Amino acid sequence: MNAAHSNWHERAAALRPDGRSVIDGQRRVAASGQTFEKLSPIDGRRLGAVARGAAADIDAAVASARAAFDDARWAGMPPSGRKRLLQRFAEAILAAREELALLETLDMGKPIQYSLAVDVPSTARCIAWYAEAVDKVYDEIAPTGSNALALITREPMGVVGAIVPWNYPMIMAAWKLGPALAAGNSVVLKPSEKSPFTALRLAELAVEAGIPPGVLNVVPGFGPEAGEALALHMGVDAISFTGSTRTGRRMLEYAGRSNLKRVYNELGGKSAFIVFADFADLPRAAATVAGSLFFNQGESCNAPSRVLVHESVADEFVAVVVAQAPKYAPADPLDSGTVMGALVDETQLRTVMGYIEAGHGEGARCVAGGRQARSESGGFYVEPTVFDGVDNDMKIAREEIFGPVMSVIRFKTEAQALALANDSPYGLQASVWSDNLSRAHRVARALRAGTVHVNQYDEDDITVPFGGYKQSGNGRDKSLHAFDKYTELKTTWLRIEPDTA
Ligand code: NAD
Repeated sequence: MNAAHSNWHERAAALRPDGRSVIDGQRRVAASGQTFEKLSPIDGRRLGAVARGAAADIDAAVASARAAFDDARWAGMPPSGRKRLLQRFAEAILAAREELALLETLDMGKPIQYSLAVDVPSTARCIAWYAEAVDKVYDEIAPTGSNALALITREPMGVVGAIVPWNYPMIMAAWKLGPALAAGNSVVLKPSEKSPFTALRLAELAVEAGIPPGVLNVVPGFGPEAGEALALHMGVDAISFTGSTRTGRRMLEYAGRSNLKRVYNELGGKSAFIVFADFADLPRAAATVAGSLFFNQGESCNAPSRVLVHESVADEFVAVVVAQAPKYAPADPLDSGTVMGALVDETQLRTVMGYIEAGHGEGARCVAGGRQARSESGGFYVEPTVFDGVDNDMKIAREEIFGPVMSVIRFKTEAQALALANDSPYGLQASVWSDNLSRAHRVARALRAGTVHVNQYDEDDITVPFGGYKQSGNGRDKSLHAFDKYTELKTTWLRIEPDTA
C-alpha cells in the first residue's frame, strides 16, 4: 500500500501488536505469566499487553543465545553467509516499512512521517551496512621478527546483551544488532518498557529472513527486572547499553558485581551550539538549531539544547528562533504533515513541565511556548519552548531535559564560549558556527565532545562513530569502530623454525 494514501488512523485502530518475547525463534509469554499494559502516548489508547520479562525469561534467552553461539550455527558461518542473511533481514525491514513505522509512532509518539522517512530506513541501512562490511574487514599480522608469526585476529565475544531506550527504539537497537550480529555474536535485546513492539517484530523478521533461531532473542520488561537480570547475568559477555547516565552507572556496577562483562555505555547529553557574531547567515543557524532541537519532540540524546550566542547577535538570533517555533507546534502524530508529536508518556511530560517551571523559578525568560498542549487528546504534548537569559549554572542548562526546551546563554568572548560549552558533565556533541576558519578549527579542537559540527548540525551517517566524552559514555556506536566493541582481540604466535638442512 502506498504510504501517501494510507489512512493511518484506520490502520492504527486495526493493529493488534504482539507483546510476547521472542526466544529461540519462538513467541513466548513470560515465565511468570505476567504482562503489563502498553498505552499509546498519542491519545492514551491501549496498544496491548506485553510480556513482563524477568530473570527466568532472561535465563531462557541467554541459554538460547549461548547454545546458538556454542554450536557455531552463526559464528561459524563464513562472513559472506552472515552477510547474505543480514541483507535479507534489512530487506525484510524495508518490506515491513509501514507496519514498523506505525508501531513506532503509536508506541512512543513520534510523527508518522519521520518513522517512515527516518527510523525504518535508517534501521535497515544500518543492518545492511554491517552486512556489507563484514566480508571486507581483514585481520592483521604483526611486524615482529622473522622467527615467528604473530596473528592479531578479532573473534566474536559470545553472548551480547543489548539494553536500549525508547527515543529511537529501532535505530538504537540496530546500532547494536548490526555490528554485534555481523561479527558473529548472539544477542539478547531488552527494549524499553515504553517502546517494546518494534524490537519484537524485528526479531521475528530476522528469523523469517533466515537468521538461525537463538541468534537474536528479544525480551521485553522493566529495567530493574529484565534489564537488571540481563546485565547481571554470568552468561553474558558484554552489555551494550544506550540510555540515561543514571542507568549507565548501574551497568558498570552490575558488571562489577557479576562477571566483569564488557560494558559499553551510550548515555545522555547537553550539547552546546555556539554561534559567533562573525557567522553571516544567522537565519540558517537559527533555523538549524530549532529544527535539530525540536526534532523527535526534543527527545534526542544529541539535541543542541544549550545554545551559546554572542551577545551582539543574540537578540536577532533569538527573534528568528522564536519565529520558527510555531512551525513545530505539536499535532496528531498520525497526520502525515505533523512535525512534532507526543512525549513518550505522562512521566516524561511531568519531567519536562518540571524543568520549564524550574526555568521560570531560576529567572530565565520564557520567550516561546512553555505550556502543555493538546491535553484534550488524552496524549502528552508540550509546546516548543525557548528560554533566553539562561545562566550555565541553572538547572535547565546543566541537566538533560529530553523535551522540546531550548536554553539560550549569551557570551562575550571566544574563551568564555569555550569554557561554558565544556562546563558540563556531558560531552556527546557540540557545534560551532563561525565564518572564521581558524576560529572554527580552534574551537572544534578544544570542545570536549565525541562529535563536533562546524556550520551545520544535521549531518549524520552510519559511516561515522557516535558516542560521547565524559558522562555521555564510553562506547562508540556506528562505523567500523563499532566492531571493536563486539569482538575480542586475540594474538596467536606461531614459531617459524629455521632451515637446518
Ligand atoms: P533509561 O536509562 O531510563 O532506560 C534505558 C534502558 O535501560 C531501558 O530499556 C530501561 O528499561 C533500562 N533500565 C532502566 N533502569 C534499569 C536498571 N536499573 N537496570 C537495568 N536496566 C535498566 O533511559 P531512557 O529514558 O529510556 O532513555 C533516555 C536516555 O537515553 C537519555 O538520557 C538519552 O540521552 C539517552 N540516549 C543516549 C544515546 C546515545 O547514543 N548516547 C542515544 C539515545 C538515547
